Amino acid sequence: MKTDMPKAEEYSLMESLESKNGRLGLGDSRVVLMTEQAYAFLLQVINEHAPQAIKYAFYDMGYRVGQELMGTLKDRADDPERAFKYFVETFRQAGYGDITVTSFDLSKPEARLRGTNLFESGLAKQSGIYRSPRTVDHYSRGMFAGFMSVLLGREVVCEEMACEFRGDGACEFIILPFST
Ligand SMILES: [Zn+2]
Repeated sequence: MKTDMPKAEEYSLMESLESKNGRLGLGDSRVVLMTEQAYAFLLQVINEHAPQAIKYAFYDMGYRVGQELMGTLKDRADDPERAFKYFVETFRQAGYGDITVTSFDLSKPEARLRGTNLFESGLAKQSGIYRSPRTVDHYSRGMFAGFMSVLLGREVVCEEMACEFRGDGACEFIILPFST
């Protein structure tokens, strides 16, 4: 990544995409488009084969992706809040949902996020796999935790405190150190 990257709110993920010879590229990474329906099928299949794994497997997958994404933004590690906002903007522009950082306190450390229209909340209804109200955005909270873990150089966890899926006004996330 270049060191003169634009501010989070000024950059366009779409302008960074390049489709050539059957390969869609985002910088050095290859990306593929996945429809919401395909992800709903994935949820259904895992639910049929290993239902107990959903919560942890998607969190862990998100965690690894978040760690990897932070690796691509290493040059921003000297300004953690800016790096985090850049990550959040990428999350929004990639279509995962609308997220805002409601607090970011490095002294604790603790961060809070508010999300609406998150893809997992919508999918949860579409997939029909949940019969009771619950928080469902495991991949997203995993990504937040993985990203912050690398950014802070210590292990953190992200919990979802409220979720649109169960009728709350928005999804609310808190990121905290794994241990004090
Ligand atoms: Zn949620």
